[in-house]
Amino acid sequence: MERPNAWKKYDKKALKAVEAAAKGYKAYLDAGKTERECAREAVRLAEENGYIDLRAAIQKGHGVKPGDKLYQVQMGKAVMLFHVGRNPLEKGLNIVGAHIDSPRIDIKQNPFYEDTDIAYADTHYYGGIKKYQWVARPLALHGVVAKKDGTLVPIVIGEDENDPVVGISDLLIHLSQEQMGKKLSEAITGESLDIMLAGQPLQGEEKEPVKAMLLKFLRDKYGLEEEDMISAEIEAVPAGKARDYGLDRSMILGYGHDDRVCAYAELAAMFQLPAAPEYTCCCLLADKEEIGSVGATGMQAQYFENAVAELMQLTGEGGDLKLRRALANSRMLSCDVSAGYDPLYASAFEKKNAAYLGRGVCYNKFTGRGGKSGSNDANAEFMGRLRKIMDEHNVSWQTAELGRVDLGGGGTIAYICALYGMEVIDSGVPVLSMHAPNEIISKADLYEAIQAYTAFLIDMEG
Ligand code: MN
Ligand code: MN
Repeated sequence: MERPNAWKKYDKKALKAVEAAAKGYKAYLDAGKTERECAREAVRLAEENGYIDLRAAIQKGHGVKPGDKLYQVQMGKAVMLFHVGRNPLEKGLNIVGAHIDSPRIDIKQNPFYEDTDIAYADTHYYGGIKKYQWVARPLALHGVVAKKDGTLVPIVIGEDENDPVVGISDLLIHLSQEQMGKKLSEAITGESLDIMLAGQPLQGEEKEPVKAMLLKFLRDKYGLEEEDMISAEIEAVPAGKARDYGLDRSMILGYGHDDRVCAYAELAAMFQLPAAPEYTCCCLLADKEEIGSVGATGMQAQYFENAVAELMQLTGEGGDLKLRRALANSRMLSCDVSAGYDPLYASAFEKKNAAYLGRGVCYNKFTGRGGKSGSNDANAEFMGRLRKIMDEHNVSWQTAELGRVDLGGGGTIAYICALYGMEVIDSGVPVLSMHAPNEIISKADLYEAIQAYTAFLIDMEG
């Protein structure tokens, strides 16, 4: 039952393809450090590959036929791609779905204050983080500010090597006797994750002169007032690019592998489909998974269902019953990362049912916690059909649970899509140091995920 390491099967040509996929992925990671940036980059790649805006197609009133490629964006933070197949949509779609939000530190709406000649931004972290990992490291600021006149000011500070970076200080070890005695979860508090932004007083300013310096910078560089922060979404993320990891360059270190590695693998799979696939193929990139798939851009919102309804109107299959059938008859890979087995923390795993770096794409029949609570728990019949497709295409794949029973757990978007009555299973890339500022994946697993998603989109039958 042990699965072979994927690297062993690669010849020279395959190794080149693995490296090419890694290169494309690193560029995607560097271009997308927020959900907005990932959505924008996905649209750019889609247009480069012949996709057109579904809303524009609706406005022009033109019909849709097999082979047509359309995309739709939800509020700039979620994206859907459709590659129309030869079968009617009523027969169901082959869907690959991932999320493009990642854990990070968000700036509050009334953020700025000055304390003892340092100007800070108050924050509220987003998603599940180990807070001690986010101090004493370079952070970059990414986001947008929505001004009252309706303009949106984009902000990226800390990525160019000539840019300054910002960050959160930690207490020096010399005075940490009390802190070091605390539980890891309590040593750094959420309210203390404040970001240092400036340290020089503005000449001639009496009251809060350092904060005045910060506000001057925002005014001069971006034309912003302090009050504009009320309608801003600024995210502090680890500064710097994704890097090859390991002396053999077999891995990638980067911010946001969860879940941008699966998002990228989905896009790569979509872009290598035949001109008119048998079933309509869909790539779904959702937001807000890390905080429960909530909000108008999270998977719990109905934009996916609405987009399929719009698409069916264009293919001449309008009507509520047909839409319900299309959704219920669909097959889906919920593409999300899995916990990679870490020998340094062996006791957190059960070795027979763990995902290993380098052994290929990982299927999780269920996720959840304590008695599978909150999981999707896919059907055995669906997994059986997937095994056949994976083996026919010589894909390296493995199966896993998230970790040792009763140790913790997690969820994905799988259970939400399953509400339509479609077949769904979790399928993704194993990650080490998940949710840390820098996570680790194997290039082989990225490559195998692309092969797996392609095989699924082309070969999964209704
Ligand atoms: Mn995830
Ligand atoms: Mn996650």
